[in-house]
Amino acid sequence: MNDAPVLSNIVDAVGNTPLVRLQEASEQTGCTILGKAEFMNPGQSVKDRAAVFLIEDALKRGAVARGGVIVEGTAGNTGIGLTLVGKHYDLRSVIVIPDTQSAEKKATLRILGATLVEVPAVPYVNPNNYVHYSRRLAEAIGAREPNGACWANQFDNPANRDGHARTTAEEIWQQTGGKIDGFVASVGTGGTLAGIALGLRNKNKAVKVALADPPGAALYSYYTSGVLKAEGTSITEGIGQGRITRNLEGFAPDEAYQIPDDEAVAITHRLLEAEGICVGASTGVNIAGAIRLAKSLGPGRTIVTILCDHGMRYQSKLFNAEFLRAKGLPVPAWLAAEQADVP
Ligand code: PMP
Repeated sequence: MNDAPVLSNIVDAVGNTPLVRLQEASEQTGCTILGKAEFMNPGQSVKDRAAVFLIEDALKRGAVARGGVIVEGTAGNTGIGLTLVGKHYDLRSVIVIPDTQSAEKKATLRILGATLVEVPAVPYVNPNNYVHYSRRLAEAIGAREPNGACWANQFDNPANRDGHARTTAEEIWQQTGGKIDGFVASVGTGGTLAGIALGLRNKNKAVKVALADPPGAALYSYYTSGVLKAEGTSITEGIGQGRITRNLEGFAPDEAYQIPDDEAVAITHRLLEAEGICVGASTGVNIAGAIRLAKSLGPGRTIVTILCDHGMRYQSKLFNAEFLRAKGLPVPAWLAAEQADVP
């Protein structure tokens, strides 16, 4: 008899993801490094959780009613989550995405039934940035929709962070039996990092929390020197924040690391090759951060991080030898080979 439950709908399949021991990272550090397999959510990313938190919050507040529209600016994963979860709640989705995001995420959104609006990738200070664009679009659609339109506002609605504190942190605590010394994550909205930090620190103040930031983000500089300063660029998607979002307010990590792309990319490739875990590059940033925290805490500790989204979302980039070469990033031999030899 299998004790996996029968769920009454797909939204109930969001969360309760496995915690997986990461073999090489653990062996390399003498610690137990565990990855929360968020790519196993129905929409294949950690952002399915935020989609549930944000939609349920909007419905509860009466910001939108069933039959209405949910509008959001997103690097793609939140849009995928909102579109799937929206179907369960009878909400259509209008998704505003910067044109730099992967073709696979855009195609997925179209297939799922989102109305997709692609905008040029411009900084947050520009009024045409995807976040501001999506807020204005929500207002315009709301004015003509009988059931309303709600802007999900993932960056600045603390329902995102609170949901992670209530669910993801609680799951991690239960799954490790409270035997956890550190937690590491990168930041898009900050909901994952600040929410899980809040939840875990509530259980045990001694849990060390670290930020893993890609180049081009300003948070590493902020948490180490007090200045929001961004330098460089990154091929990672969904992470790399330039400001203190509402979800980050009142939060501070114990440690902060900046992870270069070549390191994050090599870890992500190796994780697939050696362990059969296929994820995107933000997960490589997280694991690199977990390895740094493990080295700082010393052997014998348990450190948890997030396996953020599925790698098949990045076939044309992270898993494309030509793309990697053009960016000056390492290409693993198995990816460089035109065709594998038949064994
Ligand atoms: N990794 C990926 C691939 C993402 O899409 C996101 C969300 N944008 C994150 C990490 C970071 O999650 P959060 O928004 O909770 O900070």
